[in-house]
Amino acid sequence: MLALGVDAFRINFSHGTDQEHQAALRMLRSTAARAHREVALVADLQGPKIRIGEIAGGSVVLEDGGSWQLDTSGEVGDRRRVSVSVPHLTKSARPGDPLLLGDGQVELVVSGVRGAGVDVRVEHGGRVTSHAGLFLPRARLRTPILASKDLHDLGIALAEGVDFVALSFVRAGSDVLAARRRLDRAGHPDVGLIAKIERAEALANINGILGAADGIMVARGDLGIEVPLERLALEQKSLVARANAVHKPVVVATQMLLSMVASPRPTRAEATDVANAVLDGADTVMLSEESAVGQFPVEAVSWLDRICRSTEAAIASGAVRVARPPTVSSERDAAVAEAAVRLADESGAAAIVTPTHSGRTARIVASARPRSVVLAISSQAATRRRLALTWGVEAHECPASLPLDSLRDFAQALVATRPGVRRGDSIVLTAGYPVEGRPTNLVTVLSVDRPRGSGRPATGPARARS
Ligand code: PEP
Repeated sequence: MLALGVDAFRINFSHGTDQEHQAALRMLRSTAARAHREVALVADLQGPKIRIGEIAGGSVVLEDGGSWQLDTSGEVGDRRRVSVSVPHLTKSARPGDPLLLGDGQVELVVSGVRGAGVDVRVEHGGRVTSHAGLFLPRARLRTPILASKDLHDLGIALAEGVDFVALSFVRAGSDVLAARRRLDRAGHPDVGLIAKIERAEALANINGILGAADGIMVARGDLGIEVPLERLALEQKSLVARANAVHKPVVVATQMLLSMVASPRPTRAEATDVANAVLDGADTVMLSEESAVGQFPVEAVSWLDRICRSTEAAIASGAVRVARPPTVSSERDAAVAEAAVRLADESGAAAIVTPTHSGRTARIVASARPRSVVLAISSQAATRRRLALTWGVEAHECPASLPLDSLRDFAQALVATRPGVRRGDSIVLTAGYPVEGRPTNLVTVLSVDRPRGSGRPATGPARARS
């Protein structure tokens, strides 16, 4: 998978044991280091997912038009009632609220709230199994974003040095900020937070979430239950455009190549779905069970790679036109980054080289989708790995605080070693003047030449080792 170009691995903490998570994270880190690859490791926490409790016999069939009761008694359920894991159920649900079970097939509506329970009418019946997921798209649930299992899993993930934590069932920016405070207090300000957008409530609060998070994931599995399925493509497009506009990475996830769990080739619809995600502006496309438990994990990655490459080549050649949302930043570094992209596109540059401390300049440059590769150079290992989720960016290690002359030499040496690059090709370089580390305030065009001095400069490119 690494050889095929995978940039990030997600470990889903909803499944598996502590030992399995630790072993997977260690194996990925050491394998990536041996391959000299900067990959991002993402710990995906289960979050406050609501489930019904145990049902006697394992399942019950609910008939259309029937009634059922949800309570918080913790007792084994049956045809009449079931317990649920919502602490303030009667305060959170109102008559008329829809409820969905499992993968959304069984639909209920709240008919009354009384005492410790909620009465529901069965709108669309079916078999309900013990511990099925319960979705309340209209409810405003005030459970903490990190449940006790998440705090335990977070400890393991942080000890293994993950680059991102993905937060499930985020409702608002305040959820992300609460998790941010916890990471900072635990001494991990460099670990990024990905907000999984899978609740209807999150769509209403998307600006706050995008402001607080380091990236978002369009988690289509659970989002497809909370919003009408016929709106899912529209929500995906809107979320991707919003993330692009604020230069934050956006992951499109779930069922991308689902049939490849059992087949070596994707369906036409799946191949089209992946290409459309790229055309929308996704930074990252993600596999789930295809690579976690499927029979053809490497083939699935290979198809993802082929589809992404072919779609991106069509965009780069101008064969397909994609509208990019206007940038919402009025900051000087955003203007410099946009100028860099125009200069690179007009001069057919071999690369755009962006020194970056936090990754921001590289993300702004990449969000304008330049035709040239973006070479982010940073002394910060955490920044380099986090950039793995951003479209079109290749991160390289460089010394800290290089003065402009050394930066030019470094950029020229870095680009000159790339396959297909010829003497005289242009390079667009952004910089913080007078030294790297200052906010990006300068853009210049160089040409590929022998670097000054004797061949390779002392500050020459070094591949990062993690
Ligand atoms: C999703 O719901 O689409 C998702 C990515 O989350 P999970 O894999 O945890 O279900």
